[in-house]
Amino acid sequence: MTVIDRLHGTLEQLSLTTIGDVLESRLEAAGKETPAYADFLEGLLSLEVVSRRDRNLQTRMRMAHFPYVKTLEQFDLAFQPNIDERQIRELQTLRFVHEAQNAIFLGPPGVGKTHLCVALAVEAIRAGFSAYFITTQDLVADLGRAARSGQLEKRLRVYLRPKVLVIDEMGYLPIDEMGATLLFQVVSARYERGSILLTSNKSYRDWGAIFGDQVLATAVLDRLLHHATTVNIRGESYRLRERKKAGLSTLPTVDSVLSEASRDASEGSRRRHNANTEEV
Ligand code: ADP
Ligand code: MG
Repeated sequence: MTVIDRLHGTLEQLSLTTIGDVLESRLEAAGKETPAYADFLEGLLSLEVVSRRDRNLQTRMRMAHFPYVKTLEQFDLAFQPNIDERQIRELQTLRFVHEAQNAIFLGPPGVGKTHLCVALAVEAIRAGFSAYFITTQDLVADLGRAARSGQLEKRLRVYLRPKVLVIDEMGYLPIDEMGATLLFQVVSARYERGSILLTSNKSYRDWGAIFGDQVLATAVLDRLLHHATTVNIRGESYRLRERKKAGLSTLPTVDSVLSEASRDASEGSRRRHNANTEEV
């Protein structure tokens, strides 16, 4: 057994996989360039640190279950002049994450609510936090299943652990009493512990109708809004503008609506599947 074999064994035991990958070539280069011992060691170890940080980032990105990855740089604020840019810049500092505060994005379809939530969650992940994305419907369905099979406590942890939880599309569909109770549990368990980024096409006064229960709606809103920024987006749909630019009718055709709906449905079921196979 050569010293190189023994080295590989040791690197493996210490899980220094990146150093293991480059060992021979680094040793060969060092033989020619004869760096100081300290420089050589520092070069190798910092390579491991950088690649480990990168792997960790990729893992947290995967675990977040984003429907798509979009960044704040990709968001055209000029297209939505009614958005208060200072609000977005303030959120971008991630102070809200450090202080476990929430941000709620309200507005009609296509104005960039989900994009902004994903982008802020990506910022948080880049800064070392964990994030998780789920639609309101999937969240309620998942916790409902867990409750029926006596797994609620365990399953709740999936939604309590990440520092940033995105709850997308509140209010697109009504939520039954069981669903509203489960949502209340998530919101109150995260209260002052972890941030929620939430999107809705409904204004707060309509939440009673979404839940079919004004008392529960008030209880959820009370906790959600205590430390929260509300970003109201009143502008035009970005999707519609893309269609216009492509020279298509401003009104979506039946075909495009159907294909979008089926795409959304398959994205939803894929996400549900992912959520179900998530390890806890
Ligand atoms: P919703 O408000 O319905 O959640 P999305 O955030 O999903 O809308 O936006 C719809 C699509 O349009 C996405 O692909 C998103 O990236 C894009 N989009 C929306 N607003 C903007 C914007 N201001 N700049 C760049 N892309 C945008
Ligand atoms: Mg959306």
